[in-house]
Amino acid sequence: MKYDLHTHTMYSRCSNLKPEVLLKLAKKFNLNGIAITDHYTIKGALAVSKLNKDKDFEVIVGSEIDTPQGSILAYYINKEIKSRNILEILDEIRTQGGLAAIAHPFRLSLHKRHFFSYPLKKNKK
Ligand SMILES: [Zn+2]
Repeated sequence: MKYDLHTHTMYSRCSNLKPEVLLKLAKKFNLNGIAITDHYTIKGALAVSKLNKDKDFEVIVGSEIDTPQGSILAYYINKEIKSRNILEILDEIRTQGGLAAIAHPFRLSLHKRHFFSYPLKKNKK
């Protein structure tokens, strides 16, 4: 099974991919599914999910949320993640029955404070 678990559509500032184009590309590359993880929104994921008529191709509704500790990917969610606090984000994902992952744990270049350290601590926001 081949999945891309970190994709963005035009609902993210970093992408201009229309939902239908992302879906077409994923199928062209013979993926079995994709997770759409737009920044701070599930709108792109819902749009791709609605467009997908292939029951053998999975579209995972997700979102990517930045925190001072790093970016969190949420999978299998059905509502927008409202918090920007890392522990509360994880709670929201869990409450929705979703899964959480770290988006790019080794990226140190974005921001001096943009790294994960354990145990996770609540940020001040
Ligand atoms: Zn991303």
